[in-house]
Amino acid sequence: GNVAELATAAAEHRPGRDALIDTATGTTLTWDETDRAVTATAHVLRAAGVEPGDRVALRYPTSAAFAVSFLAVLRAGGIAVPLNPQEPDSASEALLAHSGARVLLTDRPFEATRQAPALVEPVLSATAEADPFPQVTRGGEDVAALLYTSGTTGPARGAMLSHRAVLANVGQLRALKPAPVEPGDRAYLAVPLHHVYGLGPGLLAVAAAGATAVLSPRFEVRTALSDCLTHRVTVVLGVPAMYAEFAARPVDELGECLATARLLVSGAAPLRPKVLAAVRGATGLAVFEGYGLTEAAPVVTSTLVTGYAKPGSVGRPLPGVEVRLVDSDGSADPAPQDPDDPDDTFDDTDGTGLVAVRGANLFSGYWPDGAHGPGDDGWFRTGDVGYVDVDGDLHLVDRAGDLVIVNGFNVYPHEVEDVIAELPNVAEVAVVGTLDERTGEAVKAVVVPSPGTALSEQQVVDHCASRLAGYKVPTVVRFADALPHSATGKVSRAGLRDAPAPGED
Ligand code: ATP
Repeated sequence: GNVAELATAAAEHRPGRDALIDTATGTTLTWDETDRAVTATAHVLRAAGVEPGDRVALRYPTSAAFAVSFLAVLRAGGIAVPLNPQEPDSASEALLAHSGARVLLTDRPFEATRQAPALVEPVLSATAEADPFPQVTRGGEDVAALLYTSGTTGPARGAMLSHRAVLANVGQLRALKPAPVEPGDRAYLAVPLHHVYGLGPGLLAVAAAGATAVLSPRFEVRTALSDCLTHRVTVVLGVPAMYAEFAARPVDELGECLATARLLVSGAAPLRPKVLAAVRGATGLAVFEGYGLTEAAPVVTSTLVTGYAKPGSVGRPLPGVEVRLVDSDGSADPAPQDPDDPDDTFDDTDGTGLVAVRGANLFSGYWPDGAHGPGDDGWFRTGDVGYVDVDGDLHLVDRAGDLVIVNGFNVYPHEVEDVIAELPNVAEVAVVGTLDERTGEAVKAVVVPSPGTALSEQQVVDHCASRLAGYKVPTVVRFADALPHSATGKVSRAGLRDAPAPGED
């Protein structure tokens, strides 16, 4: 099948149901109207010269314009290349060049230094009338979207997601009982749609259920809560930073605004147990955590699989997805660390391993040649290190690439971050490696104090020393006003290793 058929099916089964509620523009489209807008926009793309297999970029925040544009590219047989609307034009231009996209769906002017793309806008009018779009035979293994990972660990890479992979993950989520998005749901989406989290488990899961998406271009906590109240939201798809802001609101406000909610879901980054507990206290609802990555289109595991939101765990594989832990050299059984192999940095004796994934939801390698895709045996090795607890639930330890090696001992930054976060007056913290003459690498902590408070280097070091082995204690502590974040609110540790953070002293 073709991903755009999700809209056709929703229009057939639930034509009058609200599909897209755009909170910024006030536009509301039913599924019937959405399907017609998608068809009309596909005609516009065809008129702009888009042929099956062409890459077509789109640059919109979370909005009805994004949803219609994305589906229209696929209906026209194109390959969608969603761009981060927050990025400067120069960064988008590099991705246009890399993907070979010559048409860009956007409502803003575009500063090109080399070849300017053709700018096109989607048709959003509720009365859009369009002749049926001639069926294009693209689907299955054909690439539906090129998703550039936000690159918190390195240069941007375009993951090729086939129609098969995208539809597989939507189906794997639907197989959960209850599914994260059921036909009667009104799902709140303020996560960016150019990122796979907002796109797959968000927008496309809503389309597959014929449910309603309440779309917001940015997350501002008070607006978000009033939107949830106004639109009687039943499901919230969020990231940890959003739930942390929810948790900081008065209990009554949170309880009232989320009174119609049945399910809260978090993904993309680790959810602190403290936040889970605070949200549950105010709403009576658990936050169910999922783990995913662009290359898996994206969801791999979720605590929804067991129905128990176990703090600190990302749950179990979705039906149809397999997970196993492998050694750093790729062998299936994590073996003891090999001291002669410089690439074998795992302390595999502690039960941790690299998370490997297999399933129909996996990508087809990176654009353009499909490099570094799943192996011949179907397994894809993620960059994440994890372990499985006695119940069989997965826990993520950290990213393998962020490991800090102090005197030959492994330090996973996340463990140190958790300890520093226990201190009062810590708004946010990131830990990275720094070069050290004596120990090779040493631990560096960048701490953002809560507004109006102060913290000393010594307090941070003393607290760590009381809780952690000596080699894990930071030798460098810096204070900053803010940490660099990716589009989904993830801390970009790469930016902290060499250059100082904004306001860092
Ligand atoms: P890059 O991989 O290039 O750094 P990225 O962070 O944007 O870019 P994504 O595909 O957006 O890549 O994110 C996937 C990664 O996010 C996972 O590999 C994992 O490290 C992290 N992640 C996702 N969900 C969770 C979670 N629930 N808890 C902890 N980490 C998570």
